[in-house]
Amino acid sequence: MHRSAGSNLRTRWTVLLSLLIIPWPSLTAAQDPANPPVRVLLVTAHPDDDAAFAATVYRVTHHLSGVVDLALVTDGGGGYRYSTLAEPIYNLPLTDERVARQYLPAIRKRELMAGGAIVGIRKYFFLDQPDRGFTLSADSVLRAVWDTAFVGNRLTAILADGSYDLVLGILPFEETHGHHKSATIMALQAAMSLPPQDRPVVLGGFICPQDRTKEMRFEGLEGHVQTWVTGGAPLVRFDRTQKFGLNDRLDYRIIVNWVIAEHKSQGTMQLLMNRGDIECFWYFDANGPEGRQRVAELFEELKQDQDDPASDPN
Ligand SMILES: [Zn+2]
Repeated sequence: MHRSAGSNLRTRWTVLLSLLIIPWPSLTAAQDPANPPVRVLLVTAHPDDDAAFAATVYRVTHHLSGVVDLALVTDGGGGYRYSTLAEPIYNLPLTDERVARQYLPAIRKRELMAGGAIVGIRKYFFLDQPDRGFTLSADSVLRAVWDTAFVGNRLTAILADGSYDLVLGILPFEETHGHHKSATIMALQAAMSLPPQDRPVVLGGFICPQDRTKEMRFEGLEGHVQTWVTGGAPLVRFDRTQKFGLNDRLDYRIIVNWVIAEHKSQGTMQLLMNRGDIECFWYFDANGPEGRQRVAELFEELKQDQDDPASDPN
């Protein structure tokens, strides 16, 4: 079929115009899924601990197109004491320990994955260790409650397979649950067991207030040298109150609240909505000094900025 000169010209202009409006690729543009710019593993004890990093995880997956997976150490069966409001939802007397031990592990995994779908968690590894009783002692958990050989081997294999750049665990400070301390200690041990070139950087995270003079200091957990942090201050922070959207009316506390709301079986956790503005991360000395700069640069990338499409409603 013969095409007119006018039609050819129009076609050429259309091609030229379409080339002009294709944006340049940027660091934050959609990435090759097989080669994400950053790979993160969360290592947590309980199925709701990851809420402490929810805004950071959301930005890693949605702004940087990074990959985030989660390794859960316990089965979550111990979280039944405040499940009252969830009993009619799941049609089970979950505050009865015998019922909880049977049904809660599966319920809490579903709650975890519903929250994970919001922040973009890709893959889960369930290590199903006993979630028995509150203790502040990491040593008793590691000695007598968990199968530490199994957990250590699993975490080492997960890290080796996943080529992670970063591992996030709950900061093992004195007043936190012994399970939180133990999960982070085991994550550090697993990371340090890898050859130096394959080791991810491990950070301990917790919620900080806006007022830095009230920020927690953490210099390490006694008896666990791998948890030492020189100076005691967090290296990096993610501010959940950064604004975006039309008239800057939205912020990342919404995402965190959505994640919290998924954990219907965790009654008192619901009271944490809108509490805690900053996600703080401490850099363990055991990582060696060379990873500090990379972590600082990554968190610089995570900050809300003017060029971010999310901050421009037009
Ligand atoms: Zn917990």
